[in-house]
Amino acid sequence: MSQFPLPQINRLLFSLMAFVALFFPPFSYGAIPKIEVLIGKSIPQIVIKGENLTKTYFAPHQINSEHEVSSPKKESKTYPGKNTLVLNCETSLKEKWSKGILVAELSSTSGVIEWKNEIFKGDLNVIRQPDKKSCHLVQALSLEHYISTLLGKEMNRNWPIEALKAQAVAARSYALHKMRLRKQKNSDQTYYDLESSEKDQVNGSLSDINSNTIKATSLTEGEVLLNDQKKLDPVFYHAQCGGKTLLPQDVWHEKVANYKKVKCSFCQTTTEGIWKRDLSLPFFLGAIKQKSRKLVKIDDKSKYSEKLRLYFSDGMLEMEKEEFRRLFGKSLIRSNRFSVTFNHQRIFIQGQGLGHGVGLCQLGALDLAKKGLNYKQILKYYYPSYELSKIYGKSFDQM
Ligand SMILES: [Zn+2]
Repeated sequence: MSQFPLPQINRLLFSLMAFVALFFPPFSYGAIPKIEVLIGKSIPQIVIKGENLTKTYFAPHQINSEHEVSSPKKESKTYPGKNTLVLNCETSLKEKWSKGILVAELSSTSGVIEWKNEIFKGDLNVIRQPDKKSCHLVQALSLEHYISTLLGKEMNRNWPIEALKAQAVAARSYALHKMRLRKQKNSDQTYYDLESSEKDQVNGSLSDINSNTIKATSLTEGEVLLNDQKKLDPVFYHAQCGGKTLLPQDVWHEKVANYKKVKCSFCQTTTEGIWKRDLSLPFFLGAIKQKSRKLVKIDDKSKYSEKLRLYFSDGMLEMEKEEFRRLFGKSLIRSNRFSVTFNHQRIFIQGQGLGHGVGLCQLGALDLAKKGLNYKQILKYYYPSYELSKIYGKSFDQM
């Protein structure tokens, strides 16, 4: 039994809490940002399903001599009980304008919308294209929800949680970097931060989420990698490096100062990543646009070399491996780790890995997580010059 009467304890607790609140206010991070992701390109007709759908329509108010909308008029229309909405970009949107424009926001009282048999959380924005025949569809959603759906697409959602957490931080950093770029450009013609495609990152729908992806996202909420200037960089990742990671400038001629090449034997524990190609000489010469020349010799030191030399009867041609991969296509040349040999009028290519090879190697991260490394150690391995930093979300005490 308590030695103190109850009201006295309450008063004591209250004074203590007031003291703590006054002198130690809870550390406050910013709110979770919203991201806008292009999920559908050049669609003539959009059919969406939801509950009590609302269409906020942005009608052009004034059109100047260049057919540019100076001030869109907003009209919201709710369709109580209506579960399907059809938007025809060619016939139902008749106004004249020469540039892409936001014409409608679509939302549902349930907070989810179905499009093409996939269920998306958040709102969908319709962007009419300059061709006046089609629209882009943009999903506007919380960045944290975006990360949890993306994990199911960009990694295997049943992989160890530490690998998924490392992937969550990398993908969040990439997305936030893109969001900052859009803000810096300050372009009124850009209605989305990034694309849901191989060009940027593939995001999923509600069906791609499971308890692992939710956990990996919430346990790293607001965490990103910052460079030594405390700024966001494009944080790249790929499926399998094949032995050593590459720098962004090796692949895209885009220099990112903080990147380092690291050795990675962790993705080579299986033979899964080894691929071979046997090509005919005419096909090979056609692909590299040298059909009329006579090939004599190929000089390619190893799968780790960045360039290869082709000797023709009338001269030499030096090619970067990334360019070579671009000419043949990413499905034929699966990574930038390959060597090329020429023998008996056939071209033999032997390679290892999958993807561009820059930044985190996903199969390597899987192996490191299985070995017991946590996500911070995995990130430090593939991005040694970057620091993990929490830039928004709940503080650790509140989680
Ligand atoms: Zn690797």
